[in-house]
Amino acid sequence: MTLHRGRNLDVITSVQTVRSHWADLVKPGTFAAASLVAEIVDAFCELDLPMPEVYELLTSAAAALGASADPGALVPRFELRLLAALGLAPPDDRCVRCGAGFNEQGAWLDVDAGGLACERCGGGRGEINHLGPVDLVNFRAVGAIRGGAIRASATATPRCARAIDELVTWHLGKRPKSRGLLDTLPG
Ligand SMILES: [Zn+2]
Repeated sequence: MTLHRGRNLDVITSVQTVRSHWADLVKPGTFAAASLVAEIVDAFCELDLPMPEVYELLTSAAAALGASADPGALVPRFELRLLAALGLAPPDDRCVRCGAGFNEQGAWLDVDAGGLACERCGGGRGEINHLGPVDLVNFRAVGAIRGGAIRASATATPRCARAIDELVTWHLGKRPKSRGLLDTLPG
């Protein structure tokens, strides 16, 4: 980008595209997933507040969505990593209410507390909120960042994806509008 320094505002005089993911994002399912990702970033981020980690995450998500045959499956991973970048990801090894480690039963989504609860605190929240041992391992894998890179193999289990979705909705105070678009458009 070339800028001409102005008195108050600088003027953009020329721009060269180095890399663009737009052409890869026009398929309906991909567009829906990308819309959801963009809407969530927009909702969580404040105007004029630089968040390089979130920007990095968004650009890598755009590239990954464009290249994926199942873009909707990438959304939970993006959501959990975004929560982590914002310091909002819940602990994945101890109860959000009492701090105890999880037993062999796994954990329960406790959306009122914004995290995962142990059997004693969350066991009454029903089967729909239950993350069994496999889901719990999956939750950790989906959110894992190793050396700054996304673990490409980690796809959220249905329960894990639902839990992450509910956590995002809880933090936003509303369900993202593009969620409905993703649910209706084919991948
Ligand atoms: Zn507990």
